[in-house]
Amino acid sequence: MLGLMQRRELLISSIIQHAARHHGDAEVVSRRDDGQIVRTTYEKLERRARKLMGVLRELGVEFGDRVATLAMNSDRHLELYYAISGMGAVCHTINPRLAPDDIAYIIGHAEDHVLFVDACFAPLVAAIAPRLAAVLRAVVVLAEPYEMKPLGARLDLPPGMALHCYESLLDAAREEPDWPVFDENAASGLCYTSGTTGRPKGVLYSHRSSLLHAFQINGADAVGLRATTRVLPVVPMFHVNAWGLPYAAPMVGAALVMPGRHLDPVALLGLMDGERVDLSVGVPTVWLNLVNHMRQSGARFSTLKRIMSGGAALPRALVAAFAELGVEACQGWGMTETSPVVTFNEPKPATASLKGEALFDHAIKQGRALFGVDIRALGPDGAETRWDGKSQGDVSCRGHWIAKGYFRSPETEIADDAWFPTGDVGVIDANGFLQLTDRSKDLIKSGGEWISSIELENIAIGHPDVAEAAAIAAPDEKWGERPLLIVVPREGHEPRPDDVRAFFAGKVANFAIPDQVIVVEELPHGATGKILKSELRTIYASRR
Ligand code: AMP
Repeated sequence: MLGLMQRRELLISSIIQHAARHHGDAEVVSRRDDGQIVRTTYEKLERRARKLMGVLRELGVEFGDRVATLAMNSDRHLELYYAISGMGAVCHTINPRLAPDDIAYIIGHAEDHVLFVDACFAPLVAAIAPRLAAVLRAVVVLAEPYEMKPLGARLDLPPGMALHCYESLLDAAREEPDWPVFDENAASGLCYTSGTTGRPKGVLYSHRSSLLHAFQINGADAVGLRATTRVLPVVPMFHVNAWGLPYAAPMVGAALVMPGRHLDPVALLGLMDGERVDLSVGVPTVWLNLVNHMRQSGARFSTLKRIMSGGAALPRALVAAFAELGVEACQGWGMTETSPVVTFNEPKPATASLKGEALFDHAIKQGRALFGVDIRALGPDGAETRWDGKSQGDVSCRGHWIAKGYFRSPETEIADDAWFPTGDVGVIDANGFLQLTDRSKDLIKSGGEWISSIELENIAIGHPDVAEAAAIAAPDEKWGERPLLIVVPREGHEPRPDDVRAFFAGKVANFAIPDQVIVVEELPHGATGKILKSELRTIYASRR
């Protein structure tokens, strides 16, 4: 017998409809390229998104078509998220920090016919446009009419590719009266992973997976947004849907504060204080820069209470530095293929009373699985590892918002209940908290012993002279591999290699202490802010 309850499709458009009706005056604040702050509300944004559906139809976009965006976090990008997915098309967010060659490849692979772009990326679009003449029919610049003129020569498009002004198209469009209803399993978004090997691969989210993920990250034991929260996503909307915040915030009526392209510490701090932000979300590099700025300037946060970190390991020293500034630092773990949040580090009864150093030790764990997804680690024998906090294995996961294959790559498809291999290696403790030790390709194996590069980096960043660190494997005749540490000094400091090495004594086994410490001015970062270890290995690993 079936239950007698209403069954409605889990559609992304239902989020913005709810926000407009029940949190109509909640704010979306955006900083434009020229620094100007603009304000709108969920009510106005929903109306503009319905107009934008009309614009998309005029541009020839149909159900299931992919529509590309090359844009930073803003109200306009949010309108696009809702209008594109809401009409049943697929919002293909492109990372502008990828190599132009990769961007051209993914636009071709996805067959995007229309591209919405921030004016600051006009030169990038102009550079790749000639190669996209057969695919792209229209480029729409997210700008006011008066901002189009100066673009002129900077955005010379090939014949057959129309150039439009976003606000002019919206002005001329008719508001669509309703949001269409269709199958919740329809594709809603597309995001290509910036894999370090091979071509980027597309992860195709559905309305259902995006909604279930947003419900869960809004739980009290996860990001936990509320109607009173004012959240600043530093994580870009082109990186795994800004970790789901563009859906999770309107779902509960939380205010969104969008930084645009102004991501330096001074601009971020100004926006946080000026807009009474209490939660901010981003990768550790952003937080390291912000904390360094706070230390140097002696500034304090006026409203910020909590930051959420993800995308790379959260260093222990950073948790401590934020605690000193009166801010709680928490973290989640996941990847593009997992929407992204799989685990989140919030207390259980067994960990709730941890304090001081013990709390910091616990805070660097990646967390426990949210309901709706599951995790496990497989040891070298292929069996699931014991949850003892020591037995290391390859981490895999499965659940409602985990990919079952890559876009247009049928050979990658796995079954609905199969485990997705993440490429991360870690241990799970008795309370179910996952702690990553490495990416499998970054592990260091010395004389048969595994050495965690994440652990070495965490310790190095605790050294008072070190701002950022990367540990890599250097080939070694006797031991197979030995750890090599590359560090960036904190401003005004000069770390001495021997001193940094000595700092490891007693903190790790002797065999794990890096043989060599190299001091560099900066480390290479990839398109999503992660340290490019492959590049470091090419440069340094053979120079011993
Ligand atoms: P991406 O698909 O670009 O989001 O990258 C996903 C990868 O980032 C994961 O497989 C991890 O290696 C890494 N990552 C994400 N979150 C964390 C975290 N909290 N701690 C350590 N590594 C993380």
